[in-house]
Amino acid sequence: MEAPHIAIVPSPGMGHLIPLVEFAKRLVFHHNLSVTFIMSSDGSPGKAQKLILDDLPKSISSVFLPPVSFDDLPDDVKIETRISLTVVRSLSYLRDTFKVLVANTRLVALVVDLFGTDAFDVAKEFDVSPYIFFPSTAMGLSVFLHLQKLDEEVSCEYRDLPELVKIPGCVPIHGRDLLDPVQDRKNEAYRWLLHHGKRYSLAEGIMVNSFMELEAGAIKALMEEESGKPPVYPIGPLIQTGSTSGADGSGCLRWLDSQPRGSVLFVSFGSGGTLSHEQLNELASGLEMSEQRFLWVVRSPHEKAANATYFSAESIKDPFDFLPEGFLERTKGLGLVVPSWAPQIQVLSHGSTGGFLTHCGWNSVLESVVHGMPLIAWPLYAEQKMNAVMLTEELKVALRPKVNENGLVGREEITKVVKGLMEGEEGKKLRNRMRDLKDASAEVLSENGSSTKSLSDVVQKWKNHK
Ligand code: UDP
Repeated sequence: MEAPHIAIVPSPGMGHLIPLVEFAKRLVFHHNLSVTFIMSSDGSPGKAQKLILDDLPKSISSVFLPPVSFDDLPDDVKIETRISLTVVRSLSYLRDTFKVLVANTRLVALVVDLFGTDAFDVAKEFDVSPYIFFPSTAMGLSVFLHLQKLDEEVSCEYRDLPELVKIPGCVPIHGRDLLDPVQDRKNEAYRWLLHHGKRYSLAEGIMVNSFMELEAGAIKALMEEESGKPPVYPIGPLIQTGSTSGADGSGCLRWLDSQPRGSVLFVSFGSGGTLSHEQLNELASGLEMSEQRFLWVVRSPHEKAANATYFSAESIKDPFDFLPEGFLERTKGLGLVVPSWAPQIQVLSHGSTGGFLTHCGWNSVLESVVHGMPLIAWPLYAEQKMNAVMLTEELKVALRPKVNENGLVGREEITKVVKGLMEGEEGKKLRNRMRDLKDASAEVLSENGSSTKSLSDVVQKWKNHK
């Protein structure tokens, strides 16, 4: 019989595309399946997205759906609403693509990510099995599945709850650290989350980019059978491989080559993270005062949104214009500042890199785990605060700087955590614990590892699809 074909519909954003691409590569290389990426968007695909998709093997093709229009939406519409609507407004195009795929391949499954469950309707019309690839934590997935219950039980905003929120199997968490879109229950983004959370039960399986040793409690709770809850498959950590993070246009790898072993702190806020101008200044001063070596990917500041470059990953203005006066000259030799983008995987695997100040995007966290890199947790948006709590309180592989009464992380605090990580006793402990996780991450993805086995289980179901 013809090998099964899988349609993958990523919701917009590099952080969603990257792990799905790795997932697709595994399906093709390890299981001989073929895959089509169906890309919806509200504009032309960004440079970084194209770079990744152009780089794929022949059995993975991509189809770009016509962009949808958001002219009718107010400017301040939240990202979760935007992403969800991108998928909803692409459904008729998706249907057309499905017609072609069904005519030409043995299409058996549709895989969507976080906010793509509306595409399930199309899958159903064609008798194709709906699946979810959850690109974040098992804890995040538990919140999605548990949200309806929370919504019924809690009447105030979650951040005003005096007690900690308890999600089955997860470290108890302050309401204010829960993911962004639940922070304003009147906002449409919250409605969308509830909508998807409910629809998760329509999936025939949910794959999550995590593994037992990283999130034992949450994963055990998720794997308990319960009516209405699809089977959950931990298949992580899937992180980007190959040259997908781009060339070393800014020369950071060359620069790292000439730095002492384990001496450099990598500072980066993912593909979409931006700081306010004032916060950018504090960070610059804190790095300078720490007298540690650093490699900083800097973006132009944004006063309102912490995810201002989410859809493009590129700064609009020259970010160097916003650094404190004389900063580049004073830190020359000790630090390197690059605009907008760095080949993160190569940086993290470089022997000169000794720590990572990260916004705690889940891909960045997994990449750090795989490379045994201890962290400074500086969460900005999405589910990153939850990730930061897990990293600092549960796994103890990160330091989290305190935010002061003005909502800023001050320069002294930054200096303290940077020194603590790069030269303190505490840093050593974090590093050792990260190395244990690194070993575990290699084990679960080995031939007989638990994540390899979970993915094989899913593929077997697809191969049996009639
Ligand atoms: N990334 C990169 N270079 C950069 C910034 C990000 O290669 O300068 C990659 C990073 O390695 C990761 C992804 O982009 O794979 C960012 O995903 P993450 O989940 O960490 O954060 P998001 O961008 O979704 O907030």
